[in-house]
Amino acid sequence: MQFSDFSIHRTILEAIKELNYTTPTPIQEQAIPEILEGNDLVGCAQTGTGKTAAFAIPILDVLHPIVGSIKKRKLIRTVVVTPTRELAIQIQENFDLYGKYTNIRSLVLYGGVNQNPQVDALKQGVDIVIATPGRFLDLYKQGFINLDQMHHLVIDEADLMFDMGFINDVKKIIKLSPSNRQTLLFSATMPFEIRVLADEFLKNPKYISV
Ligand code: AMP
Repeated sequence: MQFSDFSIHRTILEAIKELNYTTPTPIQEQAIPEILEGNDLVGCAQTGTGKTAAFAIPILDVLHPIVGSIKKRKLIRTVVVTPTRELAIQIQENFDLYGKYTNIRSLVLYGGVNQNPQVDALKQGVDIVIATPGRFLDLYKQGFINLDQMHHLVIDEADLMFDMGFINDVKKIIKLSPSNRQTLLFSATMPFEIRVLADEFLKNPKYISV
């Protein structure tokens, strides 16, 4: 199987080709079609399996025609919640790589730094927000984040989020999201709490384990 076997826009395929990704990894092979179909998804996959591309590539493909020309007003379409600043930055790098030839703009939000540059960037408008839960909620409460046009919610490293005590914040973010969203949950392990979370908040999700 090749990336060109997915019905993904050529601008994104071109960027993937330049990275010399020859074949999709197992999580990509299984997750990309489900995400393109609009299904909710629970992916049990460790870091290193290519899980970031597994959600970033189809999300970019869905956003590309919506975002269109650079002049269009930017509204948050996708939110990725992840436990650490380092993971948030890595995820943004992936979106930037695969979305190199699109007008899709992403922003990382994390705590421990002055919020003003993040607020300024939000005011300029972005399509994708990749955030740690605390800072996201902080900025939301201050009125800097509007989720009316949000399409996708990605919960990354859900088990780690639980271990780090972020699960209530994650639940709050889920509850703030539009009910017609698509939810993608990734976790290296599937403890009871994560299954409960998926049962409560995902709609008829597909389960993928690699
Ligand atoms: P992740 O599991 O998302 O942390 O990805 C692990 C690494 O694999 C990243 O450095 C990606 O750039 C790389 N990668 C992701 N998908 C592929 C692929 N299909 N072929 C080759 N490398 C890939």
